[in-house]
Amino acid sequence: MKFENLGLSQPVLQALDMKGYDTPTPIQEQAIPAVLSGRDLLGIAQTGTGKTAAFMLPSIDRLREAGNRIPFKSCRMLVLAPTRELAGQIAQSAKDYGALAGLKVDSIVGGTSVGKDRNKLHRGTDILVATPGRLLDLIDQKAFNLSGVEILVLDEADQMLDLGFIHALRRIHQLAPAERQTLFFSATMPKAIKELVGQYCNSPVQVSV
Ligand code: AMP
Repeated sequence: MKFENLGLSQPVLQALDMKGYDTPTPIQEQAIPAVLSGRDLLGIAQTGTGKTAAFMLPSIDRLREAGNRIPFKSCRMLVLAPTRELAGQIAQSAKDYGALAGLKVDSIVGGTSVGKDRNKLHRGTDILVATPGRLLDLIDQKAFNLSGVEILVLDEADQMLDLGFIHALRRIHQLAPAERQTLFFSATMPKAIKELVGQYCNSPVQVSV
């Protein structure tokens, strides 16, 4: 199987070529066509399986196809991650893969200046990678809202629960538009995660690697 056979666009294929990737990993092979078709996704996968590209590559093409403008004080794709480190890695991947698609990428994490984040997000962005606590701080300050979200990704959801983000995730779910695509990733599936999947996802395609 090659990336060319999965339905991705030329700009995304060129970005993969520049990275030197030609063969999709198993999760990429299964997830990319499902996400491109607009379905919700439940990915049961650990780090190291290529899950970042599995959700980022088809999402970039969905955003390109929809062609919407950047929303004021909001974003078109929101990626929630448990830690600063992971958020930083995902944002870098989004920049690498999305470089030729012309999408704006930002990240906001705890432990940095909130004032800088407020300024950064004022004009909105295409792809925002955030830790849940900092995102809610900015929402509570009316510096950001979720009204523009077309695609919502939860990465390492089990880690987010372990770090005490359950209330933050419930609130984010309430604030996000009901009509959106949700891509949900977790390495493990305890009861609390299954409940969260039930709230966040609509008949998701399940991929387990
Ligand atoms: P992840 O599971 O998303 O953290 O990715 C693990 C590592 O594999 C990252 O360093 C990626 O850049 C790399 N990677 C992802 N997809 C591929 C691929 N199809 N071929 C080679 N390396 C990849």
